[in-house]
Amino acid sequence: MKGQIAVMTEPGKLTYQEYTVPDPEPGAIIARILRSNVCGTEVHIWCGHHPAKRSGGLGHETVAVVEKLGAGVTHDFAGQPIKEGDRIVSTYFIHCRRCYPCQKGQFYLCDNAYRFWGLQPEVDPHFHATFATHWYIHPEQMFYKVPDNVSDQAAASANCAQSQVYFGLDLSGITYGDSLVIQGAGGLGLNAAAIAHEKGAEVIMVDAVPLRLEEAKKFGAHHTISMADHPTVEARVEAVNKLTGGRGADYVMEVAGVLEAFPEGMKMVRAGGKMISMGTVTPGKTIPYDPAYSVRRGITTVTALRYNGPYLKKSMDFLSANKGKYPFDALLDKDFKMDRIVDALDESAARKVKRASIVMPK
Ligand SMILES: [Zn+2]
Ligand SMILES: [Zn+2]
Repeated sequence: MKGQIAVMTEPGKLTYQEYTVPDPEPGAIIARILRSNVCGTEVHIWCGHHPAKRSGGLGHETVAVVEKLGAGVTHDFAGQPIKEGDRIVSTYFIHCRRCYPCQKGQFYLCDNAYRFWGLQPEVDPHFHATFATHWYIHPEQMFYKVPDNVSDQAAASANCAQSQVYFGLDLSGITYGDSLVIQGAGGLGLNAAAIAHEKGAEVIMVDAVPLRLEEAKKFGAHHTISMADHPTVEARVEAVNKLTGGRGADYVMEVAGVLEAFPEGMKMVRAGGKMISMGTVTPGKTIPYDPAYSVRRGITTVTALRYNGPYLKKSMDFLSANKGKYPFDALLDKDFKMDRIVDALDESAARKVKRASIVMPK
C-alpha cells in the first residue's frame, strides 16, 4: 500500500511524495491520519522564520486511527486495550529515557525529543510528520486511545497547546482559589483558561482583540482586560490590582508570544507569586528586564516547553469530562483537503484563519 506525504522543499514551497507504507517494527504503530492542524510552528517554518528547519515534512497536531499494530502492542501508554481501528493521539516527540534530563525525570526536556519528528521523508520509515496520509509512531512515542465522546477536532488539538499549558499550570503549583492572569487569548491562552477554571482558579485574561476576549469568556475566563481600553502597561497593571485586592495576581502566565509581555507580566504578579513563561520560544530576541525587581518581590519564574507524555492522557480525560462545557471544536475554524495544504498554510500566515485543519482522505 502507498501513502502520501506533503514535503516542504524550501520555505513557501510544497510538493507531495509517495512511499510504500512500511510495516511497524515491534512496539511501533502505523496510523492513518484523520486530521492534522496547522499550528503556529508550521506557519513559522513555512514562512522561513524557523532557525533550523528549512525543509521536510510538516505537521504534529493530529488525531489518527490505528492501521497496523507492531508486535507486542496490545495496550496504550495508560494501560487501555488497543486494537486496529481505534482512534489515537500520540506525542510528536519522544522521551528517550537515557539522556541526562530524562534520568532526572525531566522528560519534557529530553535531549533526543525530536529524534524522529520531521525527518526528511526519504529517510526510512518515511512517515515522520502528520501532513500525510499515514504516520509512523515509534515505540518511544507515547500514544493514547481517544475517548469515544471526544471529537476528532478536539483530540487533534490536544497534543500541542492543551497538554503544554496543562503541564505548565501543574508545574507552577496553581491550585483552588488562586488568581491567574493569562496574557494572550490565543490557542494556548484559551486552553489554559479552561483548565485553570476547572482547577478552581480565578482567571483574568488580557488581550488586545475584543473578539478574542469574548471567546476567552466562553473558555472560562472570569474577567477580561482589554488592551484597547487599557492602552498602557500601568493601566493594565492597575486593572489587575483592582481584581486582586490590590496585591497583584498569584500567578501570571505569558502565552502572548510577545517579548514585552514578560516584563509587563512581572509587574502583575503579587510579591511571592509566580510567573509562568511559555509564549516566547524563539531564541536571540531580548528585552530589558530588571532582575532586582523580581528578587525584591520574591517572584519565581516557571518555564515549560513541550510536556511530559502522560499529559496527553490527562488532556483526553479533561476533554471527555468537560464535553460540551467549552467550545473546543470551534477553535478550528476552517478545514482543508490534503491537496490544499499550501492554501491552509498561506491563509494561516495571512491570519485569514485562526486554526486551519487538514482533513485527510478516508
Ligand atoms: Zn503545535
Ligand atoms: Zn531523553
